[in-house]
Amino acid sequence: MIREIVKDKILLSQKSIEATPDDKDIGQDLLDTLNAHHEHCVGMAANMIGELKNIIVIADPGAPIIMYNPQIIKTTGTPYTALEGCLSHQGTKEALRYHKIKVAYLDHEFKKKIKTFSDYTAQIIQHEIDHCNGILI
Ligand SMILES: [Zn+2]
Repeated sequence: MIREIVKDKILLSQKSIEATPDDKDIGQDLLDTLNAHHEHCVGMAANMIGELKNIIVIADPGAPIIMYNPQIIKTTGTPYTALEGCLSHQGTKEALRYHKIKVAYLDHEFKKKIKTFSDYTAQIIQHEIDHCNGILI
């Protein structure tokens, strides 16, 4: 189900909590909402649809990736400054990002995965994990 995008800074500033298999419906809604905004949105976190759960979706070329409880367990190299936009705010903001990250997460079936992502996909994941931590980018 496509949900409305939250722009409330107070809600977006709160830290999300761990997702459980009961939250798969939220994951699906997040995917549906991302698809509805695919022309100008490359990723979303659950708090952007009003759910304070650690769930993110990434519009990877091919198939979107859904991650429950993602955690960056390793970064490589020195960070760079990126200019990022977000559906939940107007304008762009600067953020420090790593070119390469290793992420531990649970996939759509709640199976544990560890994967390395680089460049643009890595940047989107870092942005969405910031959302889960209540950081406004
Ligand atoms: Zn955002």
